[in-house]
Amino acid sequence: MLFSTDALVLRCLDTGDYDRILTLLTPEKGRISVIAKGVRSPRSKFAPASQPYTYGNYEIYRKGDTNWLRSGSVTEFFSDIRADIEKLALSAYICDVAAEVTGEQVPAVDILRMTLNTLYAIAKEIRPAADIKAVYEFRTVGYAGYMPDVSRCAFCHDPGTGAVYLDVMNGRLICPGCLNRRPAEQIRDEASDPVYERSVLMPLSSPALAAVRYALAALPERMFSFRITDPGAGREFHKAAETYLLNHLERGFDSLDFYKSVAK
Ligand SMILES: [Zn+2]
Repeated sequence: MLFSTDALVLRCLDTGDYDRILTLLTPEKGRISVIAKGVRSPRSKFAPASQPYTYGNYEIYRKGDTNWLRSGSVTEFFSDIRADIEKLALSAYICDVAAEVTGEQVPAVDILRMTLNTLYAIAKEIRPAADIKAVYEFRTVGYAGYMPDVSRCAFCHDPGTGAVYLDVMNGRLICPGCLNRRPAEQIRDEASDPVYERSVLMPLSSPALAAVRYALAALPERMFSFRITDPGAGREFHKAAETYLLNHLERGFDSLDFYKSVAK
């Protein structure tokens, strides 16, 4: 069966002398693996379309359970990403997260669009890299089914204008008053899901909470249209996003470690 699809190359694995296995994120079929024969040969016409973080149109031949690349053309190469190690490293992490939260044959229209918006933001530096990363982390983990309720304190229901804590494992807010009234064990025991035995509380000042709310609620085309002016609040926002994602996906990422080693 031959089919054609738009797709983002999330990652590549070189194999043989000239071949490559591409992990593609497609709108209709979700994440798929495609064997690209000969694309590392100097004579291949499809080499640019077989690079990581390329968005293009791909003609794929499916035989049995295996997908073979027939042809590929580039729609967006994100060339600004490729000249900068920090941008490249962050893009690799973003694409690893996208691969983690998507499935084979599960349509991925929204996450594909969000990932493309994010790569564009990284390429064009429309926000500081740490802000872009945090917005993507909160939104993808929400997409993966762990959307936190950041509307109010889970105990006293105060919508909160001051500092609060993000109760990471339960995906909810706790205000300082309620935290002081309840020992940590009690907060843990009240967990809606008994699987969660850890208690991870991330402090969020008022501007950091505003950023979390914005990141989760903004329309996709507006997801980076915000500013945090206070550096301390920015750090809280960044730390909360990464902690939230790593705890809910229950894994680390080598690409994240590498990004941290090269990030300014
Ligand atoms: Zn409270």
